[in-house]
Amino acid sequence: AAAAVLLLAAAEALSTTTTPRAITGAWPQAFPAKDLCSNCGLCKTDVGIASVTDSCAFIGDGMARAEGLEERVHGRSRAYDASNLDEAYFGVHDEILLARGNVGGAQWTGVATGIALAWLEAGEVDAVVVAGSSEDGFGSPEPVLCRTKEDVLRGRRVKPSLCPSLAILDQVRDDASIKRLLFCGVGCSVQALRGINKGDPVKALNLDELYVLGTHCVDNSPTPEAAKKFVSTLPGVGEERADDVLAYEFMADFRVHARLRGSDEEETVKPAYMTLPPSIGVPSIAPSCFSCFDYTNGLADVVVGYMGAPFDAKRDEMTTAPLMVTVRNERGRRMLDTAVASGRVEILQRGGVGGRELPSTGDRRSITVKTVQGDSMVKTLLEPDFVAGNQGAPPFVANILADVIARTLPTGLEFARYSIDYHYIRNQLFCDDRMGTRATRHVPSYARAICEPYAEDVEALKNPPPP
Ligand code: SF4
Ligand code: SF4
Repeated sequence: AAAAVLLLAAAEALSTTTTPRAITGAWPQAFPAKDLCSNCGLCKTDVGIASVTDSCAFIGDGMARAEGLEERVHGRSRAYDASNLDEAYFGVHDEILLARGNVGGAQWTGVATGIALAWLEAGEVDAVVVAGSSEDGFGSPEPVLCRTKEDVLRGRRVKPSLCPSLAILDQVRDDASIKRLLFCGVGCSVQALRGINKGDPVKALNLDELYVLGTHCVDNSPTPEAAKKFVSTLPGVGEERADDVLAYEFMADFRVHARLRGSDEEETVKPAYMTLPPSIGVPSIAPSCFSCFDYTNGLADVVVGYMGAPFDAKRDEMTTAPLMVTVRNERGRRMLDTAVASGRVEILQRGGVGGRELPSTGDRRSITVKTVQGDSMVKTLLEPDFVAGNQGAPPFVANILADVIARTLPTGLEFARYSIDYHYIRNQLFCDDRMGTRATRHVPSYARAICEPYAEDVEALKNPPPP
């Protein structure tokens, strides 16, 4: 009997040490990826933390792991070579097209929200997970498990800071009424979700079907406080109106568009990028986002974003401009078709594979190199004495510069490639610095293929010729 008690005690001790439990400690120190953690929420669940070493986008093979899941999710991996980098840039896809939604009060026109609403209303899923905000503006983003239209509408604005979207997974797993789920999220959370249970989240979550609607994502703020601090530096906003900001984006006209709650109706301010104090850049971006190579959300079924959609500064506003939709597989195609049939989303232009039939002008190469050269994080990494200034350019000067630069910028899909090139080059430099040799494991091969043509420019940046 004594031996049996001992055996039982040993078994209990073993089970408590081998069954990981959701992390409840302080973020990010208590989390496995430490300050590179994007607060995706996986580690806040029992079902997720069991898979963290195989799923987290920031530990072990990190961002590169997602490439190995593409075949399982989409039926094939990205196809690209040096002569055609379309899928290196935009991931596995059937088509890239332009669309417009008709959801009032959305960040843009509501294409992503329209697809999610249509899929729920068509009875294709039992529930939808969106990133909602606890309050308007900069309230802490949190996952919302939606059963109704009103729930889904809580996710209709982009949250400017990290959201623990996966923290709801235990609830999903334990709810017997949820067998078909639509998850809406950014690339790092989608990667972690797809990686659960060695690439079989459907089984781990007791589901029959999982659909994923992604958004493009880049340069997120670590916390709502950091995002609020950033907008309070925008001319026309300031500390006094930071709480009135409903949405903001870095636009292709080299201006930040910020939509503000007005006394009667919304107003929009559009300060030029150069009015921002250079010192606000680095603290406004989470370290995870300096380590991210999944701007285009490669493991979602269908993805919505704005970077490759043409933007006419004279005519377009965030609330009217076209959006770019990437259809990756048959599930994504059905979701989009359902949204179009419901009238919630309108297709403006079909672009075919690579979006080759969509507007795309200019040549990104030289502006990419200039943008990397001027970037505060790049300077921090490469110039030992660099200290970012606390003053932006005067609005009068900055406005003229923005208009001149905007006229020389690439447009449409070429603008998307410019933005990807710049962010991946900067992030490769960050990862080399922070991760050392592990950067080789972390950075996906498609990102290395995108950075490769700039190898000489980067080398010149690292080792500038003597004056
Ligand atoms: Fe966990 Fe997600 Fe943070 Fe990785 S990024 S440590 S999976 S919460
Ligand atoms: Fe996650 Fe990348 Fe977006 Fe940061 S930029 S929140 S790491 S998907």
